[in-house]
Amino acid sequence: MMANLLDFDLDGLASFCEGLGEKRFRATQLFRWIHQRGVNDFGQMSDLARSLRGKLQNAASVCALPVLAQHVSADGTLKWLFDVGDGNAVECVYIPEDDRGTLCISSQAGCAVGCRFCSTGHQGFSRNLGTAEIVAQLWFAEHFLRQHFQTTDRVISNVVMMGMGEPLQNYVSLVPALRTMLDDHGYGLSRRRLTVSTSGVVPMMDRLARDCPVALAVSLHAPTDDLRDSLVPLNRKYPLEELMQACTRYLEAAPRDFITFEYCMLHQVNDQDTHARALVSLVRRYADQGLRCKFNLIPFNPFPASGLTRSEPARVQDFAAHLIDAGLVTTVRKTRGDDIDAACGQLAGDVRDRTRVEQRISLQRRSGTRNSRMAADKATQ
Ligand code: SAH
Ligand code: SF4
Repeated sequence: MMANLLDFDLDGLASFCEGLGEKRFRATQLFRWIHQRGVNDFGQMSDLARSLRGKLQNAASVCALPVLAQHVSADGTLKWLFDVGDGNAVECVYIPEDDRGTLCISSQAGCAVGCRFCSTGHQGFSRNLGTAEIVAQLWFAEHFLRQHFQTTDRVISNVVMMGMGEPLQNYVSLVPALRTMLDDHGYGLSRRRLTVSTSGVVPMMDRLARDCPVALAVSLHAPTDDLRDSLVPLNRKYPLEELMQACTRYLEAAPRDFITFEYCMLHQVNDQDTHARALVSLVRRYADQGLRCKFNLIPFNPFPASGLTRSEPARVQDFAAHLIDAGLVTTVRKTRGDDIDAACGQLAGDVRDRTRVEQRISLQRRSGTRNSRMAADKATQ
């Protein structure tokens, strides 16, 4: 079988090259062609020996994911729907901001955790993505956007594993993908700008701290076990006490500054002052043990099957003020890409169920350098 070279981090690629009877250092050149220059045709890799190119042509490919649809939001957010076979699709979202470009990547088709407020969770679990399928989202987005903006500069500065799926339930595929993103010969992301978001898979948080200490976001959503059990079913397996201790251990083992707690604001479910007070006392209990954290309040993106509604903006502000008054750094996430269902938790997986898949649409004119450049070119894909 042909190897898909997107499956390998640099170490893996070096072993693969060795298997072809090549020196390990050849892998660095190859890795750079693939990830830094976006080249998938071995014939174009001009500084590789002809003999190596020949071997690669017989044994390997750089195989991206077919794009089923591309959507662009009025705010410049771009979303791609990738085909991962058997009627499954995963989504990936690019969010341009003044000082950064963030890509939100999926780790699984569906998700087994089944959080009440998450549309991916409502779809159930199809399968884990392979490393190549995780990396392919970044490979495609980065090189598509560079071409699109007609730049050789890096476009994506931040990656968040906040698309579909629970990344820490797909650990084996996740780690080589993260390494490729961090590698200076790959995407060269800094560890602070690469975030894994988890609903709290405690043993894997410990492993991540050892294997690949990147920024960690923990989806908290509730200050008590009763409430969290009902929102994030994984809490029954790894309750708050264990989760908070794991967060503390993560900061000890991995030289990270803080954990980001994500908190999805659900009208009258978890958004009352009592919840804010309980949240403050929860994190204070662990502060002495070294837990440093920030809060990110996410306005809920409603979908009918959830039976839940979004907290009023004034309620979110009051809740934030409560945390800030208690000395907790708190931000409220702007919703982006609402009009194309690219907002958090709205990423849909099953193509067969999807009623809103539009065909490619042309990019709209926007203000701002990046966006006006986008408008100047048409999508080439
Ligand atoms: N499985 C991981 C990462 C993917 S979900 C996790 O749960 O952390 C990424 C973030 O989106 C999580 O914080 C999740 O709680 C949040 N989210 C999911 N559905 C949402 C919705 N409908 N509205 C707002 N945020 C949502
Ligand atoms: Fe899975 Fe995260 Fe959605 Fe929960 S919020 S169902 S863990 S993707």
